Amino acid sequence: MVRAGTKDGSIRVVTPLIAMHKHEIVTLGLELKAPFDLTWSCYQREDRACGVCDSCVLRLRAFREAGAEDPIPYAEAAVRLR
Ligand SMILES: [Zn+2]
Repeated sequence: MVRAGTKDGSIRVVTPLIAMHKHEIVTLGLELKAPFDLTWSCYQREDRACGVCDSCVLRLRAFREAGAEDPIPYAEAAVRLR
């Protein structure tokens, strides 16, 4: 589609993280000093992550398995569940 819809057909879509587990992505991000504090995964809230939606649960699990603490703010109830 990119080739068909773009004048410059030399565009290449690269997905280096697609085959990685989430905890591996977190580990790599930590090694690369990715600004995880600027990332967001929650689908339920925008002020503090809910900590209970599927996306939050997967994110929290990935950080836990990577042995790291997620730097974004979570709702108080979510903090108790960690
Ligand atoms: Zn959430």
